[in-house]
Amino acid sequence: MVKYYGKTVFKGVAIGPAVVLKNEEQQVKRRKVGNPEDEVKRVGEGLETAQAQLQALYEKAVVEVGEASAAIFEVHQMMLEDEDYLDAIYNMIRTEQVNAEYAVALTGDNFSQMFAGMDDDYMKARAADVKDISNRLVKCISGNGEAGLDFQEPSIIVADDLSPSETVQMDKEKILAFVTVHGSANSHTSILARMMNIPALIGVPLDLAKVQSGMKVVVDGVQGEVIFEPNEFVCEEAERKIKKEREKVQLLQELKGKENVTLSGKEINVYANIGGIGDVGYALENDAGGVGLFRSEFLYLGRDDFPSEEEQFQAYRQVLQTMGEKKVIIRTLDIGADKQVEYFNLGKEDNPAMGYRAIRICLKQPEIFKTQLRALLRASVYGNLSIMYPMIISTEEVERIYAIVAEVKKELAEEQIAFKEPEQGIMIETPAAVMISEKLAQMVDFFSVGTNDLTQYTLAIDRQNEKLDDFYNPHHEAILSMIQMIVDNAHKHGKWAGICGELGADLELTETFVKMGIDELSVSPSMVLPLRKRIREID
Ligand code: PEP
Ligand code: MG
Repeated sequence: MVKYYGKTVFKGVAIGPAVVLKNEEQQVKRRKVGNPEDEVKRVGEGLETAQAQLQALYEKAVVEVGEASAAIFEVHQMMLEDEDYLDAIYNMIRTEQVNAEYAVALTGDNFSQMFAGMDDDYMKARAADVKDISNRLVKCISGNGEAGLDFQEPSIIVADDLSPSETVQMDKEKILAFVTVHGSANSHTSILARMMNIPALIGVPLDLAKVQSGMKVVVDGVQGEVIFEPNEFVCEEAERKIKKEREKVQLLQELKGKENVTLSGKEINVYANIGGIGDVGYALENDAGGVGLFRSEFLYLGRDDFPSEEEQFQAYRQVLQTMGEKKVIIRTLDIGADKQVEYFNLGKEDNPAMGYRAIRICLKQPEIFKTQLRALLRASVYGNLSIMYPMIISTEEVERIYAIVAEVKKELAEEQIAFKEPEQGIMIETPAAVMISEKLAQMVDFFSVGTNDLTQYTLAIDRQNEKLDDFYNPHHEAILSMIQMIVDNAHKHGKWAGICGELGADLELTETFVKMGIDELSVSPSMVLPLRKRIREID
């Protein structure tokens, strides 16, 4: 039995088998081998597994997202048969007498760089695919293929770190908890863990080489500890805590159908944050009054190419239809910073959080923005949609957005495609937007405060930097004064203001927010009922 301590991102207790995701550097080490032909044979066996995985992924994707989007897995299958690629691997094994994993990884890097250097945009985009197939092949050869992101049994994910795109690809039903060596409490992966209602510990100083997939693990998010190969006593204690948690959740169920109203009669809208269609069920199950933030960029993560207008339309339509008359605020894509997607070709930036991201991409590359707006407007007839724009810093940006929206509406009208006139609001997550919030309030229908970024930009603290978690203080009086200013300026012009950053779920501040006059709080689905409970206690 070995115990480690970490930082809790989401409280809760879980018990189950580990799935250890070792990153590539840990897997791919150069080894001199005595018999290269054995390694060539291992490549052949890895290829068979990889082909079978890709076939299964293709068949799953055809059903879930249609043939056009599934075709990428066929392309990957063909690339794995490419003679030049395979010859390069076999040559390297034979001439340098190295292990199969190393030869595949290095060949993948070489081919990927070759594609990236080509002039043709299509070929350039294949660089990511070669990397992808090589990673898959390495995992299959080293026996980590099955223990990748497609595990079967409900498991506890143990990793060095997880990117948002890795996290969104996981089947949430099969994740009992997350444990990572690195990561910051304010990163999107942590937010996803909270959104998924999954116990999560970060900053756990464990050596991944010493733990294996299949080991039994207890994660105690309340105590901030993770125990590998626990003894019987620890397991019993964990089971007891899990039972108690369930009873607590059960008690909260009594609040379903009740209003979010204080003892003195002030009502607050309590909505849920979601990341995709799969979360709508959680929002409804927890009796959220609406969706206060649909992070639409998650539709763009974990894939090889842009989602088409049709794919996006189907996703938005489904969310709107499922929510019925309830408000659904869909935020336009907020790619960039920690939400990186290879096919956007954003390039390396020294300071990505302050870089080319979110609305800046949409305004610079309006064709991406227009596709999303078309999908949103087409979906608007299926429910109660509001559109929200992220990372706003000026009134000019809002004007430019409105001009693009008007163009899209004109095109749709000409094509005789029906749409409604959704409310349009902005996220207030930069100090600039706070300072000009009085002007902005006259241009938009609502404000939603993104406290995660607002804290980062106001306190000059990178939310991704785990070393700064102790300094990241969203209770800072600067942040609280800013929220007051935002609410006042919204109300002055008859607009509503809410909070959709993580701070909205901070029960220690609920009373403060109510006193400030906040109209809406949007939180992870599992926090809707605890927040309702708290609001109903306030005098
Ligand atoms: C925020 O910044 O508070 C926010 C809600 O947006 P995100 O966390 O997705 O950046
Ligand atoms: Mg933000």
